[in-house]
Formats: sequence, structure tokens, C-alpha cells
Amino acid sequence: MTTKYVFLTGGVVSSVGKGVTAAAIGRLLKERGFSVSVQKLDPYINVDPGTMSPYQHGEVYVLADGAETDLDLGHYERFIDISLNRVCNVTTGQVYAEVIAKERRGDYLGGTIQVIPHITNEIKRRISLVSKTTDAEIVLVEIGGTVGDIESLPFLEALRQMRTDVGRQNSIYIHVTWLPHIGATNELKTKPTQHSVRELRSIGISPDMIIARSDHPVDDSLREKIALFCDVELSAVVPMITTPILYEVPLLLDKAGVGEYLLERLGLTARSQPDWTDWERLVREVRRNKPTVRVALVGKYIELQDAYMSIREALLHSALSLGIEVIIDWVHSAELEKGRGWDVISAADGIIVPGGFGERGIEGKIQAARYARENKIPYLGLCLGMQLMVVELTRHVLGDEEANSTEFDRGTPHPVIDLMPDQRDIADMGGTMRLGLYPCVLQPRTIAKRAYQVQEIEERHRHRFEFNNAYRELLQSAGMRFSGISPDGRLIEIAELADHPFMLGTQFHPEFLSRPNRPHPLFMAFLEAAREQAGVSQPIEVETSTVNSP
Ligand code: GLN
Repeated sequence: MTTKYVFLTGGVVSSVGKGVTAAAIGRLLKERGFSVSVQKLDPYINVDPGTMSPYQHGEVYVLADGAETDLDLGHYERFIDISLNRVCNVTTGQVYAEVIAKERRGDYLGGTIQVIPHITNEIKRRISLVSKTTDAEIVLVEIGGTVGDIESLPFLEALRQMRTDVGRQNSIYIHVTWLPHIGATNELKTKPTQHSVRELRSIGISPDMIIARSDHPVDDSLREKIALFCDVELSAVVPMITTPILYEVPLLLDKAGVGEYLLERLGLTARSQPDWTDWERLVREVRRNKPTVRVALVGKYIELQDAYMSIREALLHSALSLGIEVIIDWVHSAELEKGRGWDVISAADGIIVPGGFGERGIEGKIQAARYARENKIPYLGLCLGMQLMVVELTRHVLGDEEANSTEFDRGTPHPVIDLMPDQRDIADMGGTMRLGLYPCVLQPRTIAKRAYQVQEIEERHRHRFEFNNAYRELLQSAGMRFSGISPDGRLIEIAELADHPFMLGTQFHPEFLSRPNRPHPLFMAFLEAAREQAGVSQPIEVETSTVNSP
């Protein structure tokens, strides 16, 4: 089948859930029997978000092949249950780097290099790589930002040209906008949508469908108005009301007829009928009153919860499967250092110390790990959270106050966490960590083995530092078990405490592999322990859950 393209642009304002919309549309198409992939085009000049502060960008989502990508790729993978690769996130930085490298090599034979056609051709080449590197029959392409941004112009121009390249019957443009609500008159306004469509038209793109996001119900007269002014068929004006339940979005879009419309416009017939049973169950479970379990997430970017998007989702997946409501209490680790926020920690049924970089707030995280160990509160350490669990044990059980990771104290006499040998000569910061999927062998009679119930696993990584093998025996003598080790026996991937209900840290990021209908075994095990701690022994009538290892 010729590859079909669905292009998504945004209008009016950003942050209206374009990524979730793209992910949900992908699901609609997959449910109809098509293989789907999604690509995000990010107009910023950074080569990837790997070197950006989470405050700027939110979470860095790591793919199986080690690409450090935009958090929207997490939505795509979770909603559609697919595995994406590095061609699925393109930035202006990557495009220019490639074109300039070619120019230096002399590939352009003396020509003048210009935005059109050289930059736009490189963008189109990268779009075409998705169908070449995956089995996708339908490729969704989402452009970050909103129409009108200067830096998105070359991307929009490339998309405009794509219609001629691939043909009208093989491409569709969806514009996602926002309808502001005027409180004084209690009405929704379509004017910004009209302006945004006009702007898009001036670039040469006429949207085939408008998805109008809104916090309030959109009546038919408003839809008619948008159809009329924006020259879009009425059936292709889709209101999309804000829902607090992310996983309801595919259901809402399906009900609005988006799936049928897209297939018809692309000249396709559904190969299967959508089966929404699992999704409807998820949404019902979210709405149901459930016993609560409190988890304290001790991080340093807590003002921007998007920085921990996949952890939040992974907790939700497991909680829904266990029939509990997880309340996440966000605790700033630097506050703990000042003696504040401990009431939240002491009210917690479980503590998570997530990944992170740099010195700020480290001591607070170590104190939280100590609290979890001493009070036998379930603890899950993710990457940095695992490393600090090792530091904490060395300091407070083995009495070595100076133990540290060399990331925070280069001169520590006891570097229990140290730079990986192959990281020592690396000068560039971008894309040089140990990244992506690596295998790990689980050791018998451990919490990890019981949780996964398999011999070997593969998980996604993103780190420069690792457990220092010189301290293996010492840590074992303090009650630490190394329950997950790389197949060559060299790298500690999972550490846990023997004499504790659940204190476990992973050098990898399990949160990236949790899916709505396939909660991650470690998040399940952690929440089961937290549920026990909360005194909620049994879930009330949970509907079927499908728990497998990822
Ligand atoms: N900063 C630590 C390292 O580089 C942990 C990284 C992380 O938590 N992702 O090893």
C-alpha cells in the first residue's frame, strides 16, 4: 500500500494537547487494522532535547535505539503501543547539521544552499525515512509549536510540498486549534481559529479537518461557523472538550467520527472494527471511587510535572490495574534539606526518587532514601534514585559519611557511584550517555525476579555514572542484593535491600516501557507494597487486568 500521511499543525496557542491528539488519532487508525507510526517535527535549533533543562522542555523520552526525544513520543508509544525509532523526532538542529555537513563535503557542487529547496528537501527526506525504517502504512507527522512561529516556516513549506509529492489522496492536513471562552458573555470564540487557518492558507496549506479544543461544550452553530469561515466540511470540524482522563481522548475522537472520516479521505477501508473494550474499562476505572495510596515523588523539577510524565503515567497504569487511586505528592528535594516537606514524606505509603542530574537537592534525596529504609516504607529509585540508595546505605549503615557519587564529589575517598569507564574521555554532552535498550539478567530469589517472572529483560537507559564494582562485597555485607546484572556481569542494573518490604533501585528507566494495558512489573510490585503499607489489603472488584512483562 502507498504510504498515507496525516499532517498535524497547531493554531492559536500551544499546550492544547496536540501530541495527545496525534497519539489518539494513531490509535484510531491502528484499531482499524493499519500499521501506524508517528513523527514529531520540533522547530527548535537544539539537535535534541537531551541537553535541555526539564524546565524548558519537560521530560526527555528515551527510545529503544537510544534517541533522546520529545515527551510527545511517550504519548505516541503509550497510546498506540508501538516502538518508535530515532527518525521519529526531527529538529531544526538536526536538519541544518546535516545540510551544512553535506555542504562542507562539497556535495552541492558549488551551489548556493538555501532554505528552499535544500532545508525543505532535507525535512522531506527525513519524513520519508519513517516509512522506510518501519512497517508503517500510515505516517502521522506532528509539527511542534503553532502556526505563525518563524522557525516552523520551513517545516510547513515542506508539508505543503508533500501534498504534491505524495498526492492529494494520500495526504490529509489536520489543524488543532483552541476556542477561548469569554467569561463575561459566557461564549466561545472562533475568531482566533479563523485567523490561524488564514495564516496557514497564506503558506499554502488548506486544512482538511479542524479539531477545536475547548474547555466548554461546543454547540453545532459554532461548528457550522467554523466550517463556513474556514472552508472545511462540517463533518470535519471536530470539537474536542478537555478531559482530565487522557485515555478518554481516543474514545471521544472516535465518537466524533474522526476515524471514519480519515479513512474515507485517504481512500481506505477499515480492515477491522475498533475494539474499545480495554480503553472503556480504563476510563471507567479512573472514574470509579477507589482506596487511595499516597506516593511521594522526591524530585527537583516538581514545579513542572511534565518533567516526570512517564513516571506519572506508569503509576497510573499500575494503580488502575490494582484498583487503587494513586495520589502523587510532589516533594522538592531541596526543601527536605531545609527541614521542610517531611510531613508529606511521613504521610507517604511509598517514595519514589526519580532520575536527575547535577548537585542541587541531592542531599534531600539521600535523606528521603534513608527515611524509606529506616521506616520500611516502599521505595523505588529510578536511575539517580538507585545510585543515591547505594550512597545512602554506604553512609548510614556502613558509617562512611564521605561516600558519594563522583558526579557530586569528584574527590570523594569512596566513590560508590563512578563515571563509566567509556565515559571518561567524552567531551561532548549531547547524545553521549549510555542510552537506550540493554539486556539485564535477573538473579534468583529476588524481588526483581519475582516481579518480572522472567530470566532476562531489556530496559531503556540514560546515564553516565554507574555502581562501582569495587564496592560490591561491601554493599552486600550491608544487606544489598544485586538482583539485575548485565549479561557480561559487569554492570549492576538493579539493586535491592534484603531486609525491607520493597526497597529497589534500577539503573534504567522502567517508566518508559509501561503501557496503559500492560503496566510495568516493577511499578506494579512497588505499588502493591505501597498498598500494603497503606493498609488497603484487597482491591474492590477490579475488572480484568492484563499484566505481562514488557
Ligand atoms: N546523573 C546520573 C548519571 O548520569 C543519573 C542519570 C539519570 O537519573 N537519568 O548517571
